[in-house]
Amino acid sequence: MNAEIIAVGSELLLGQIVNTNARFLSRQLADLGINVFYHTVVGDNPDRLRHAMETAQKRAELIIFTGGLGPTKDDLTKDTIASQLGKQLVLDEEAMDSIEQYFERTNRVMTENNRKQALVIEGSVILKNDHGMAPGMFINTENHKYMLLPGPPSEMEPMFIKYGQEAIVGMYGNQAKIESRVLRFFGIGEAALEAKIEDLIDQQSNPTIAPLAGDSEVTLRLTARDDSTGKAEALIDQVETEIRSRVGEYLYGYGETSLMAELSRNLKDKGMTISAAESLTGGLFQQELTALPGASSIFRGGLVCYSNEAKMELVKVRPETIERFGAVSSQCAEELAVNTAALTNSDIGISFTGVAGPDSLEGHAAGTVFIGLHIKGKPVQSQKLNLGGSRNAIRNRTVKFGCQFILNSLKGTRK
Ligand code: ATP
Ligand code: MG
Repeated sequence: MNAEIIAVGSELLLGQIVNTNARFLSRQLADLGINVFYHTVVGDNPDRLRHAMETAQKRAELIIFTGGLGPTKDDLTKDTIASQLGKQLVLDEEAMDSIEQYFERTNRVMTENNRKQALVIEGSVILKNDHGMAPGMFINTENHKYMLLPGPPSEMEPMFIKYGQEAIVGMYGNQAKIESRVLRFFGIGEAALEAKIEDLIDQQSNPTIAPLAGDSEVTLRLTARDDSTGKAEALIDQVETEIRSRVGEYLYGYGETSLMAELSRNLKDKGMTISAAESLTGGLFQQELTALPGASSIFRGGLVCYSNEAKMELVKVRPETIERFGAVSSQCAEELAVNTAALTNSDIGISFTGVAGPDSLEGHAAGTVFIGLHIKGKPVQSQKLNLGGSRNAIRNRTVKFGCQFILNSLKGTRK
């Protein structure tokens, strides 16, 4: 099934408000495994709304409208859709009662046009409004499903979650349980990841596989439908196993998480402490680490050693190392890692040295980065990266690569 979201409201076109309703609904529909192919915004104008609706009817099965359900003259969504579908508006007693109660509760006087809000399109399933007056509607016709939701996000969002979702999921009949799982990958580009699972994406039906790239990470959202949650999860497990067998080394977490959050959790679980010596990242690793709650149990302190002098004086890198190999070198990175761990008496020392750009340094192009990693009881390691992008992108990605380096090196390690 595919969907289109039509947001009604001239204030959207005037740039007075942002269409957050479309964003919210798109995310919710993705969770339900429904593809949203179009977002439309149209002003408070019956002719143009009718036109937008006709266009949507040609390209979407589910059409969701937000806005224009209120009591005022410019709220014309209901009238326009009703006349377009050849249906009448009828008074919904329950909605009328709850509007009256709403006025009593809030000690306000009800005006005649508030009655208008209790008018609903005949034959529709009513979606109750627990946070306002205008009820929502769900209409199932032969070729289309329509949902009408109020404009204010404070009313629309809870209405969709509590009642709207159920109305949509109910259309799948006995396959009414929907489960969704997000897999997060780092260190592989979107194109490369998709190429490795192209056949799975081509065959997908249940579960659906939706890739999304952003913030130098790639996520895959797997959504399955079945008659029980357990069965839907089993379908997802199967596809996940197949995906892991191909790109599992890049998979670092599930759902709402980040590389740093995974690292932090991992270190807490293992009872290990960490320290960092940072050159090109200027403290970014330590900033992200300490932004998470409970950092004190895993982090004692670290250093920012931007200049060569600071590397030698603060982190005790040998002058010969810098002279012979340069500051941008695996040798320097490894010494920084070992020494920062020793200086702070931490189990792990990580270091970042390299060229954030835009200019090159010591004959190395921007984006050349060395990460050093010392883990107590193991030989020191280092990793060379050749990153692209802006100065900030290089710094941010360096920190993420650092987290992944540690996570991979800790696999199977116990303190
Ligand atoms: P009301 O009963 O408040 O009039 P309504 O259903 O008629 O609700 P609108 O009049 O279209 O909705 O919009 C009311 C308010 O809701 C807008 O002023 C705006 O603050 C918010 N709103 C409307 N549409 C959107 C949207 N697409 N994204 C975010 N906010 C919106
Ligand atoms: Mg309104």
